[in-house]
Amino acid sequence: MALLRSWVTSANDPNGPFPLNNLPYGVFVQGDGDLHCGVAIGDQILNLTRLEEDEHLNLPEILIFAIGSWNDFMELGPKVWAAFRAFLIEALEEGSPKQATFSGYLVPMAEANMAMPFDVAEYTDFYSGRQHATNVGTMFRGAESALPPNWLHIPIGYNGRASTVVVSGTDIHRPLGQRKPAGEDAPVFGPSRRLDIELEMGAIVGTPSQMGQPISVAEADEMIFGYVLLNDWSARDLQAWEYQPLGPFQAKAFATSISPWIVTAAALNSFRTSTPPREVPLLPYLREPGPMLYDIDLSVVIQTKGGSPQIISRTNYATMYFSAAQQLAHHASSGCAMNTGDLLGSGTISGVTKDTFGSLLEITWGGKEPLTLGKETRTFIEDGDTLTLLGHAQGDGFRIGFGDCAGTILPAVEFPA
Ligand code: MN
Repeated sequence: MALLRSWVTSANDPNGPFPLNNLPYGVFVQGDGDLHCGVAIGDQILNLTRLEEDEHLNLPEILIFAIGSWNDFMELGPKVWAAFRAFLIEALEEGSPKQATFSGYLVPMAEANMAMPFDVAEYTDFYSGRQHATNVGTMFRGAESALPPNWLHIPIGYNGRASTVVVSGTDIHRPLGQRKPAGEDAPVFGPSRRLDIELEMGAIVGTPSQMGQPISVAEADEMIFGYVLLNDWSARDLQAWEYQPLGPFQAKAFATSISPWIVTAAALNSFRTSTPPREVPLLPYLREPGPMLYDIDLSVVIQTKGGSPQIISRTNYATMYFSAAQQLAHHASSGCAMNTGDLLGSGTISGVTKDTFGSLLEITWGGKEPLTLGKETRTFIEDGDTLTLLGHAQGDGFRIGFGDCAGTILPAVEFPA
């Protein structure tokens, strides 16, 4: 596939994140303070809420975009998703007769603030990066028992919190919690001292499954509407103390950041790739009938207060051991109902070398090997630091970009005495 040319000329930049090939969906706030649904094209946002009000869209039901969320659209299912995408491509391509009308509905991205693109129904976080699981397991439990015995057979996950999933640009207070300092007999309560990021992809469930009804991996793949970048902020000191035997709780409940644009599975279709070879055969219900992972370049940037942005990691989503489709099929396998707007975190995406690790815990090896950032050093995140995830799929003469997933850490709030 080559670059699809648009009459929105900024979309024709081969290195731009939002060409006509992409068309990611978001929600933005403009002057009036209302939430509008929009699609990114070049450096513009096409205002779909207004286009729908004025009856210029091809949707089967009226006012899908009045609420300022993509959930109602997602519920309409894959046939409507495909027809609407085809409609937008035809309307925005070079030479389209719709240019005269649609150009009046463009909003410069620079004048819009992005909001949450969908209402997160529930949030589940997986642990499907093999190198990450090996690194963390080595640090927490020792090299012998780094990978738990179930890891190669199950996409391990835990049920996280939807209530604190926030859009890129939202500041995050350093979490408070209970930790047990090394060598002490009793735990203490206070601000986390080992605050970290996790570089992940988030998959968004578009169509639901019924309680009591398992789904195949192929069905799961068709249920996934799209993907975002996801930072699963983690307080490592709280995590180390609380995680056994039920898994992470407060260490990860305080915030999860996502990028503002839902990049659809349709836009990523030509970047499909297979999961790595299996070390042990999977049980039949988890086997992929085709390539369901994606080749997406990812990076992590840190900017300290007063410092300049510095890339501290580069890796690729294609290194994951389980795809989102496998995770979703596993999630429903017990009879667990999955809903429109469910968000599935991939697990931290780490390559094999230090400069490809997806968390500071791994990059600084538990704080033992500090990072040098100009005149400063870091083991974990300090107040005022901004962490940004970036991602794109590289096509032949075009890119499918995700938009930044950024968050700045503010000091912990005062705990009431
Ligand atoms: Mn995670």
